[in-house]
Amino acid sequence: MPDRIDPARLRALDRAHVWHPYGPMPGRQEPLVVESASGVRLRLAEPAHGRTELVDGMSSWWSAVHGYNHPVLNEAARDQLDRMSHVMFGGLTHEPAVRLATRLVEITPEPLQHVFLADSGSVSVEVAVKMCLQYWRSAGRPAKRRLLTWRGGYHGDTWQPMSVCDPEGGMHELWSGSLPRQVFADAPPDGFDAEPDEAYARHLRELVASHADELAAVIVEPVVQGAGGMRFHSPAYLRVLREACDEHDVLLVFDEIATGFGRTGQLFAAGHAGVSPDVMCVGKALTGGYLTLAATLCTSRVAEGISSGDVPVLAHGPTFMGNPLASAVACASVDLLLGQDWELEVKRIGAGLRRGLAEAAGVPGVRDVRVLGAIGVVQLDHEVDMAAATRAAVREGVWLRPFRDLVYTMPPYVTGDDDVARICRAVCAAAKEG
Ligand SMILES: *Cc1c(COP(=O)(O)O)cnc(C)c1O
Repeated sequence: MPDRIDPARLRALDRAHVWHPYGPMPGRQEPLVVESASGVRLRLAEPAHGRTELVDGMSSWWSAVHGYNHPVLNEAARDQLDRMSHVMFGGLTHEPAVRLATRLVEITPEPLQHVFLADSGSVSVEVAVKMCLQYWRSAGRPAKRRLLTWRGGYHGDTWQPMSVCDPEGGMHELWSGSLPRQVFADAPPDGFDAEPDEAYARHLRELVASHADELAAVIVEPVVQGAGGMRFHSPAYLRVLREACDEHDVLLVFDEIATGFGRTGQLFAAGHAGVSPDVMCVGKALTGGYLTLAATLCTSRVAEGISSGDVPVLAHGPTFMGNPLASAVACASVDLLLGQDWELEVKRIGAGLRRGLAEAAGVPGVRDVRVLGAIGVVQLDHEVDMAAATRAAVREGVWLRPFRDLVYTMPPYVTGDDDVARICRAVCAAAKEG
């Protein structure tokens, strides 16, 4: 083992050489140095605002649903490590990938039968788009190669995903001139429980109908738009999209990378609407936050369409496709989730968030407070001062990462009631000071 780098030197090297998400070079913010993590706590290498331990309110961007350093996931990783951490997937196969794919087919909506294992969420969206375009190409309709989505979405940072992120509010405005031009519907009206707006449903139907000849697919995040603005909408609009797509020969893609594995209160958010997509992406919580892995699932119709075309293969194959280590941990994580009453845990956390965040509604500058599943959001009426908000949360002993006008949390499912209450105090403090 190399000698430890002391925290001050580590920060200096980080600043000099290491890019961080959506950051400049050299970095402007001082990142906290995490030394280790266990359960729902991050242990810092040096104290920050009097804290050396922070309760994680972010689940490392929706992924660490079982918390950190989980004995079952550690064991799965160690066991696989002793066999092999990786072998190529071209011409070879192995139990972790086969087991995981089979498990995913079992737990996702019935028509989804085939699984492409990708190395990140963004890549799984690229694969989903490629599947849809190639399906129509194989069917002799190559003009069907555009995508329709609604505003306010987020689908990742590589090229095709960027083209369906919100064209204004998102992080990719910069590239609007270079990206494929997609068809955008208005953002879905707010509110999971809101009465569906008939005018909006008509808007969706009309847009699908009028672009049907050039549309390969509609792609949306079902029920919760995450990084695009943490907005919730009625599941009824997913049924509208399903019907419109069926009527006009357009494929439907659900990006469940953030919503999958119970976060919204259903195992997959599609379950709120009782509809199933033709193609579905999962990622983030797939490995319980241990390793990068995502999957694109599709129906037999899509797979057979692609495989009977003039180029009868799906031309995609990442070097680390089906990585055994990640697949083994993913299997263990899915089993761990389904082996407990996860619905009850998500409900419990949701109830705690509702209780603890109610106070934020009265804070000046707060526009809205909303909770769905184990997601709690405080929306401000102004851009959050990220440094001030983060500092306020750290003082409360909690890690949060606010953005735009949002202070939000999606805690690990193993977060105890006291820690949920602490996270809520931190969100309220961050909303006040940010
Ligand atoms: C995070 C996210 C992605 C991108 O996943 P990466 O693993 O970061 O590439 C895509 N879609 C949604 C809905 C996401 O939340």
